[in-house]
Amino acid sequence: MLAAQSDEMRTKGDALIRQADRLLCEIWNERMWADGEPIDPSPKVDQALNGGFSWLEIECSRCQTKREVNLAELPHVETTCIHDLATRLRCQRCAKGGKRPRATLLQLAIGRRHTAEVP
Ligand SMILES: [Zn+2]
Repeated sequence: MLAAQSDEMRTKGDALIRQADRLLCEIWNERMWADGEPIDPSPKVDQALNGGFSWLEIECSRCQTKREVNLAELPHVETTCIHDLATRLRCQRCAKGGKRPRATLLQLAIGRRHTAEVP
């Protein structure tokens, strides 16, 4: 009986945390849409994933190429904040030319909108 109650409370708690994480992502998105800054503070990668936002849309600050990053596929970055990714995610096209421009963060997304990765 008490165990069932505990399970029920935990399930409700998980659902609340998921809602809180989704809200964090929505707040951050609205800031990106409005001004594009400040990017800090931002949700952590695991909060974005928990909130259902699995994709991060970025744009190269140099060549303006857009791409989407699957947050779930990033290695060992569950506690990394989204804004820290701006300096870590590199444009493949510019990297070939020896440039390392930072990424402009556009928004978190639930699904993928653009289809192809830049070859
Ligand atoms: Zn580029």
